[in-house]
Amino acid sequence: LVVLTGVNKHFGALHVLQDIDLTIGRGEVVVVIGPSGSGKSTLCRTINRLETIDAGTITIDGKPLPAEGRELARLRSDVGMVFQSFNLFAHKTVLENVMLGQIKVRGTAKAEAETKARALLERVGVAAQADKYPAQLSGGQQQRVAIARALAMDPKVMLFDEPTSALDPEMINEVLEVMQQLAREGMTMVVVTHEMGFARSAADRVVFMADGRIVEQATPEDFFSNPRSDRAKDFLSKIL
Ligand code: ATP
Ligand code: MG
Repeated sequence: LVVLTGVNKHFGALHVLQDIDLTIGRGEVVVVIGPSGSGKSTLCRTINRLETIDAGTITIDGKPLPAEGRELARLRSDVGMVFQSFNLFAHKTVLENVMLGQIKVRGTAKAEAETKARALLERVGVAAQADKYPAQLSGGQQQRVAIARALAMDPKVMLFDEPTSALDPEMINEVLEVMQQLAREGMTMVVVTHEMGFARSAADRVVFMADGRIVEQATPEDFFSNPRSDRAKDFLSKIL
């Protein structure tokens, strides 16, 4: 579904993505882990073209990423993204947050957008908060609204960049559970996370990055019990 071939990206002299080849199949859940600064966020951001690349190709459904205009807006809605910071519109209610993209990008009628938004809020367990503003919600609730907002666009793939890193510990699980459920339902997902429990139970594949490269990819069972590279062994010894 998503294919990266020979992707390279620099920030000035810094070579943040080096010869990245990565194929994400439909319905696959890929968890990306690696040390700070290894390029995980940049990798995610290239997939919905929040970052341009210097060399290589990225295709979704066989089509290269569009450069600009309406096509780009469409791409952004095909690729749902959930960040560490919840990025909700502060001056819109929860319901409006989930309706807005449907109306503006998809051209959905208001009533239909509302029905869908309410159903999605129900699905992520925050239906009771529909008329509140983001600041009135807990971090876990806000992040679940952010997931609902992305899902409202019927994305082909969902990218999660450390979605639970900014949350208080007791709220982490409620967000991970929503993500687990999505994974079970067959959503194609790329998840950058430090939650190794999630990686073990939800990932089809673990991608380990270091210094802008994909150093290893394996099933979670294989990766956690038998990391091959010194970089991965070192990383795992620090976090497990
Ligand atoms: P973390 O685990 O800390 O989130 P990461 O693996 O997500 O790290 P990236 O955020 O992708 O890493 O950053 C990779 C490298 O690129 C880092 O050295 C970072 O400082 C640098 N970098 C990221 N964004 C920019 C930018 N906009 N301009 C310049 N350098 C950047
Ligand atoms: Mg990051």
